[in-house]
Amino acid sequence: KHVAELIAAGEVVERPSSVIKELVENSIDAGATAITVEIKNGGVTFMRVSDNGCGILKEDIRPAFIRHATSKVKEEDDLDAIATLGFRGEALASVASVSHLELITKAREEEIGTRYLIEGGEEVLFEDAGCPDGTTFIIRDLFYNVPARMKFLKTDMAEGNAVSNVIDKIALSHPEIALTYIKDSKNVLRTAGDGKLLSAIYAVYGRDFTRKLIPVDYTLGGVHVTGFISSPENARPNRNMQNFFINHRFVICKAAMAAISEACKGTVMVGKFPSCVLNLDMSFNAVDVNVHPTKLEVRFVNERPVFDAVYHAVKTALMNSEK
Ligand code: ADP
Ligand code: MG
Repeated sequence: KHVAELIAAGEVVERPSSVIKELVENSIDAGATAITVEIKNGGVTFMRVSDNGCGILKEDIRPAFIRHATSKVKEEDDLDAIATLGFRGEALASVASVSHLELITKAREEEIGTRYLIEGGEEVLFEDAGCPDGTTFIIRDLFYNVPARMKFLKTDMAEGNAVSNVIDKIALSHPEIALTYIKDSKNVLRTAGDGKLLSAIYAVYGRDFTRKLIPVDYTLGGVHVTGFISSPENARPNRNMQNFFINHRFVICKAAMAAISEACKGTVMVGKFPSCVLNLDMSFNAVDVNVHPTKLEVRFVNERPVFDAVYHAVKTALMNSEK
């Protein structure tokens, strides 16, 4: 079977936050070390993602907007990686078909960049443009031609909050990238991009939160758990600030949540949850590839090693912090 046929077709574009997630992930894949995200009106009327990544060659621009035309997967063998990382060549095609899209890009090896406009999937402009190395996407009027989808958008406030959540997760999972986030002309987040998780946490959650963190660094059964957990007395009444990443990709991980609760039994009050930013490094084979890339919840072929690693990582961290 052709690679494209093997890839489950899915709805990539649900709301502004899903567009931002796809565009920023592309910037990360392009090797960007600095990314700026700007939105207006919750992203519904305006979204911009600029990066200093590799840029797109002139001849590669049109193909990038063809469905399943990913440049990132060449072999069926890579399908595990597709399912895990979300490479499936759908994002640009999908976004372009339901918005006014503007692309300004220049590959490092090119002299002159390109400006490309698509409206509702139809090309309206392709011209040379003077611009720096890297890529800028501007998306205007999301779903302007799909009233049925437009109707399902929430208030600008709610859509904007969803975008902010996506940005927070990306900032926390990629401390090596300098991320700037502008919302309705206000600078709301700026990470240093110095590669230090603590500095990214500081930028996202502020000084008070960062002061009370306990470092975690533990390997068990092929799962390397690193990051920070809040001290037991700073537990919160919900799990909103429990952040889990698998191989630096944000996920909802029930096994890890359960492991933290179990490890904190007796030290954290019933009904309270410690905050955390934990990355789980593990082989891709251990992650269930049947999970759709746009879905956040991750399931494992065998969740025991994940549970055990997080459990012992947190137990050990808490013990060390008491010394
Ligand atoms: P995928 O990311 O799954 O390959 P997309 O539709 O998201 O599919 O992107 C299509 C292609 O466009 C990518 O494979 C990549 O070659 C190119 N591309 C998209 N965004 C960028 C970017 N910010 N910088 C460089 N290339 C990009
Ligand atoms: Mg992509």
